[in-house]
Amino acid sequence: MTTIRTTCSRCGDVELSTKDISLELTGAGDEGTYRFSCPTCTTTQQRPASHRVVSILLATGVAYEVVLDTLPITESEIGRFVAMLDQDDWFGRLVASGG
Ligand SMILES: [Zn+2]
Repeated sequence: MTTIRTTCSRCGDVELSTKDISLELTGAGDEGTYRFSCPTCTTTQQRPASHRVVSILLATGVAYEVVLDTLPITESEIGRFVAMLDQDDWFGRLVASGG
């Protein structure tokens, strides 16, 4: 079993196995954060995962999930949507736009 060494903010260096770590990928999917429960003090730790760390964790078989960046809807987008609703073919345009 692969052993991953990282640090706990309380205990210092700790060793984990791949199943102790969960990785969240954000944005383009090459960076993110990873979480683990410290085997010594059992607190949940969260660490940023750089591109290099992500590569290592994925290579060792750590489970991961992709978290897409969702931007808030802007006023102009709402305005365009409302304007579109006033048109007769709004549904066809919505489908055509992939929304
Ligand atoms: Zn600890």
